[in-house]
Amino acid sequence: MSLLLRLGVVWFVIGMLPAMVVAAELPVVVGLKHLRNAEPREWNEFPEQAAGREWTAEFELSEKFRPQTLRVRHRDLKQLWRIRIDEHEIARLPRDENAMVTFWPLPTDKLAPGKHTLKISSTDKAADDIWIGDVTLDDRPQAEVLAEGKIDITVVDQAGQPIPARITIVDEHGSLMTTSAVSNDTLAVRPGVLYTATGRAPFGVPRGRYTIYAGRGFEYSLAQAQVQITAGDVKEVRLSLTREVDTAGWVACDTHVHTLTYSGHGDSTIQERMITLAGEGIELPIATDHNVQINHAPFAEQLGVRRFFTPVIGNEVTTKVGHFNVFPLTADMPVLDHRGTDWQQVGDALQAAGPERIVILNHARDLHSGFRPFGPTRHIAMAGEDREGWSLPANAMEVVNSGATQNDPWQLFNDWLGLLNRGLAITPIGSSDSHDVSKHFVGQGRTYIQVDDRDPSEIDVAAACRSLRAGRVMSGSGLICKATINGQAGPGDLAPKSDEYQIAVEACGPRWVPTPEVRLYVNGVAVTAKPQTTGSSALPRGVRWRGTWHLTGLKHDAHVVAVAVGAGVKGLYWPSAKPYQPTSPDASTHCVGCCGAIRIDGDGDGSYRSPNAYAAEMLSRIGNDETKLVTGLAKFDESVAVQIASLLRAQDAERYAALVKLAAGDVPPQIKRGVLDYHAAWRAGLPGNASQSSSLR
Ligand SMILES: [Zn+2]
Ligand SMILES: [Zn+2]
Repeated sequence: MSLLLRLGVVWFVIGMLPAMVVAAELPVVVGLKHLRNAEPREWNEFPEQAAGREWTAEFELSEKFRPQTLRVRHRDLKQLWRIRIDEHEIARLPRDENAMVTFWPLPTDKLAPGKHTLKISSTDKAADDIWIGDVTLDDRPQAEVLAEGKIDITVVDQAGQPIPARITIVDEHGSLMTTSAVSNDTLAVRPGVLYTATGRAPFGVPRGRYTIYAGRGFEYSLAQAQVQITAGDVKEVRLSLTREVDTAGWVACDTHVHTLTYSGHGDSTIQERMITLAGEGIELPIATDHNVQINHAPFAEQLGVRRFFTPVIGNEVTTKVGHFNVFPLTADMPVLDHRGTDWQQVGDALQAAGPERIVILNHARDLHSGFRPFGPTRHIAMAGEDREGWSLPANAMEVVNSGATQNDPWQLFNDWLGLLNRGLAITPIGSSDSHDVSKHFVGQGRTYIQVDDRDPSEIDVAAACRSLRAGRVMSGSGLICKATINGQAGPGDLAPKSDEYQIAVEACGPRWVPTPEVRLYVNGVAVTAKPQTTGSSALPRGVRWRGTWHLTGLKHDAHVVAVAVGAGVKGLYWPSAKPYQPTSPDASTHCVGCCGAIRIDGDGDGSYRSPNAYAAEMLSRIGNDETKLVTGLAKFDESVAVQIASLLRAQDAERYAALVKLAAGDVPPQIKRGVLDYHAAWRAGLPGNASQSSSLR
């Protein structure tokens, strides 16, 4: 055997076949190579020096050896990488950062005995660090290689009933393993990933040792089994899921769902999308292909998954000045106009969606068509201020987009809190923006909306939209936050005036999500007082963190928000994605969650005033006296000082300069911070100063 290995050919015998059949494999690249197509280094988790820009390996085919299938292991592919043998293109590898083993048919008629060259390369200009290797040639057809043994999986719920789920097959080297399964009426399949609409999934695999996982989104447990497959094996595996996170009274909504069929990019067909929605336990999917209004319902009926969710028609109104998800719409109404070139025009066009419309500002920190909605040159995050004076035509914004993640997981939350301080009623949204079956999968980011959830096929869409608009949500990716004030007021509520506010927060997620750090924000300012926490061993299932803050002496209104951020999930059963448009080579991933804002009527007048409203009142009341302004501001936290600075800068340059000067002197710390931080943020975004990555707090 060792002699044969040195010769480059491994011979082995498939048992149980009528005649003695001998299959052969030829290793061409042993082990993994680190390649980098272009400088600089993409992620700092890769070695500084790559083995090369591309990889070339020579191999020789004997008279007896006719290869039919190429097998390759790869990970961290973001750009297009190709494999060629001589001049023949053998594979265009999937642009997928997850580790996987894929198989490619070879043009046997063109591979004569003798010497050949295998080349792995990418012509893309964007830097991509990858691991690739373990390349072997196999003399059997691909179908035969992938069906050496068979696995028949059933996924059931706690009552023993089969349920739609995601199944993940990982080999002993930690890569997704391609199976013989193909997408059909009940399965949506990619390498190492099968979504089943029925709970059943039979498929073939090459011989080997595998870990098989079943899951159903982050409300559920993760089931797993080890399976050893040798040629000819047929193994049955039953995996049982339990619900870990209690979401009674809340529906799982993904507001940002694409298909290849109607968006023209990504890889999920509309049929595969129906199966993946069911498999991830999404109960209220919003169809948001670009500039079209598609009804998912007939496809859900056809595939027998309509009973698991209530489809909603929406549209990702994709403009040159941002992407906005709008719903609920109807299929027969005119398609919303996406040609607006400023937010006034976009807002006017979206009126056609009717008064109940939800409009979500998507991925506000990402660059599309040269426009970054909340880039520092056009937005001052801490003040929620648009530098061009545009008013946001949305009533919600994505704080989590699991397909387009950020280096700084807190940034979009801070952007949202700035808008709340500005006085905008904006609901925080978690979504997936999934265009794919498994690369960035549907429902990873999601929004739980408070509405009757007893029958997921008959969700009251109008009620859900009202609730969403009121901010009655918990949003996240892997985590959500439950919060109450004095045991009564929750997201979307106004807590009545009280001497003391007891703010109880739970960060909820399954056991397979890392424990998060939780911050409480009052008027967008992180509370520094330590909460009273419960030890992790005393936490019930589905709760990853529990703490209570006691807030006293609050004399003004405020909004309260809890945000949880933890490490991302590395396991290939639910992998958190690396930053989408990275601003640093740090490849850290995150799970995040929050609750909709709870408002406090701290001044006891029966209604809520934002920091911006207090600031505007104070400016008109106090008039031209900056010293009085400082006295007035002393009663508030820094959010009101930020708003005063923002309003004054826009109204009166001279008075603004006087305020900044005053703030540099002897004033209470929250006024100093508010005014001077605002001033720094404003200056940082002036032409010539702007760094697109600036995080303002
Ligand atoms: Zn978009
Ligand atoms: Zn999108």
